[in-house]
Amino acid sequence: MIKPVKPDGSWLIELDNPLEVGEIIKIYIDYIVNLPAQEAAFGYTALQVNFQNWYPFIPPLDIQKGWIVNDYSPIGEYIVSEKADFYVDIRSNQNVIIAGAGKEVVNPDNSISFTHLNSRDFTFSASPEYQKISTNLGDLSITAYVFSGNATATKELIRNTSAALIYFESIYDMRYPHKTLNIVEADFPDGMEADGIYFLSTDYLNNYDGTHRNYMTILSAHETAHQWFYAMVGSDQATTPWLDEAMCTLSEVLFFEEFYPSDVDWWWNYRVDYYSPSGKVDISVYQFDNLRAYINSVYLQGVRFLRELRTRVGEEFFIGAIRNYILENKNQIATEDDFFYQFRLFDINSLKERYFSR
Ligand SMILES: [Zn+2]
Repeated sequence: MIKPVKPDGSWLIELDNPLEVGEIIKIYIDYIVNLPAQEAAFGYTALQVNFQNWYPFIPPLDIQKGWIVNDYSPIGEYIVSEKADFYVDIRSNQNVIIAGAGKEVVNPDNSISFTHLNSRDFTFSASPEYQKISTNLGDLSITAYVFSGNATATKELIRNTSAALIYFESIYDMRYPHKTLNIVEADFPDGMEADGIYFLSTDYLNNYDGTHRNYMTILSAHETAHQWFYAMVGSDQATTPWLDEAMCTLSEVLFFEEFYPSDVDWWWNYRVDYYSPSGKVDISVYQFDNLRAYINSVYLQGVRFLRELRTRVGEEFFIGAIRNYILENKNQIATEDDFFYQFRLFDINSLKERYFSR
């Protein structure tokens, strides 16, 4: 039977009889998505249609707390999903270019079949305006879908994303699991991660100034890092957003330390100190009423905490602990306890007291 579970109108299918262990059930859902007219990763503008979190899915089950179905939040992300295999056929009655995650095959009728295995989500975008620019890294291809515009910025965007991907594979000691990584120029503010694909606002491409001291460089590293912290190691994006966001902000620092060491101090000033962030790191997305306050607490205080943790335990131990955290929580949904477990040999209570509320 189907019954509503949330006041926001979301629905949960409840089986009349619980599934036995090993029993399989197939559920077919026929539905129409009403894509809202909004500048967002789920919405459309005059330039593009974006489909993120557009399909029904089975939420994760916490044995103690039940189904993890978080309320909608206008700030940050709130969906928690387990990994799944996606087979998606997309057919358009418009002359558009489709940017989707995973492996794609163009069929004789011009529909596209996407296969995206062991993925946290399946996100796609379409526009008649996309120009497709690719580079190959061995058997991996990185493709940017951009609007006609800044060729220099696009080239640099792909170059930084490629460098970030190779570097994170090395420092986190864990391969990126897919053969494609797509970047979509977004007709909406900021950036947005998804598994195998990410959005980056057109503002950042337009403001690219030819140096490394800009948000296009910073965020291409950040969004690429989400392939490890979100896509690979999942977490509850609503209740513990710092687990992926602070780690991706730390990844920005590591990226700058590796490739643009003379810009590391600039990064701390421009990205963090300028905003004089305060507040606790472990706050849920529901406790903020504006994006800046959310970023200051979760991302910026988060990366300050990680910097102090790194100093406290030492460089070698710190990187080893992050590697272990990824290895042990790969393809799962990690918790704060899973993170702190890696640092159990150290007394970090004073640090936690300063940066954490619980
Ligand atoms: Zn992020």
